[in-house]
Amino acid sequence: MTSWTPIDCHAHTTMSDGDLSIEELIEIVRARGVRPSIADHLSTDVTLSVKTVEGVREYLDALEPFDVARGGEFCWHDPLWRELPDDLVSRFTHRIGSLHAVRACRDKRWISMFHRVLPDELTPAAYMTQHIDELERMAAEMPVDILAHPTLVPLPIRNLPIDELWTEALEERLVEALFRAEIAFEISNRYRPHERLVQRAHDRGVRLSLGSDGHTRAQAGDLEFPLEMAKRVGAAESALFDPYVHGTRAAR
Ligand SMILES: [Zn+2]
Ligand SMILES: [Zn+2]
Repeated sequence: MTSWTPIDCHAHTTMSDGDLSIEELIEIVRARGVRPSIADHLSTDVTLSVKTVEGVREYLDALEPFDVARGGEFCWHDPLWRELPDDLVSRFTHRIGSLHAVRACRDKRWISMFHRVLPDELTPAAYMTQHIDELERMAAEMPVDILAHPTLVPLPIRNLPIDELWTEALEERLVEALFRAEIAFEISNRYRPHERLVQRAHDRGVRLSLGSDGHTRAQAGDLEFPLEMAKRVGAAESALFDPYVHGTRAAR
């Protein structure tokens, strides 16, 4: 039996907001002893991204000649993922869903993870409950293989201590939603999850996925932290998400 080579399921190129060409990314990731995949932003709501169905077709055409897994990062709050025809969906090796915005106010307007202020009515605890409400809607409805950066929260509260954001009950809800929808939990190198949550996901039987979320030469393919975390929670490398084995389902 040959040993499993880790795969970076989440990395960006110049087709969205990354610095690297397809060729450069593949070369850099391979040089780290990691298998490459490309998962650019496919969303009308990211400034540098692929924004149309035709654009997604061209994106997949561009990836096709290369020996690289064909992923894509879709925003839950954006309509583009709903508009893709099956013939395009089936060309992805894996699809990643991101909670880049959440409806966390009485008026249900979207609050971006990158806004600099949270509305006054929201304490961190009130926000987090609604964050997980949104996550549950996403997991139930969005046909994706991986939840990107599961611990990404809005900027104003991003650096609060873990215990002020995550209760065990919220963690349970997140893990249960992923388990039911068969969505993998990304161990992101960019937005690093805390061990208790990764352990909970693994113990529940949620598959773990490795993602650099790399945009630069220094970041692409850097899986040192994700691999270390997977090992710490007792996940065998061969049990981690592999797009070629566990990847995308055209219809769910
Ligand atoms: Zn993202
Ligand atoms: Zn990303």
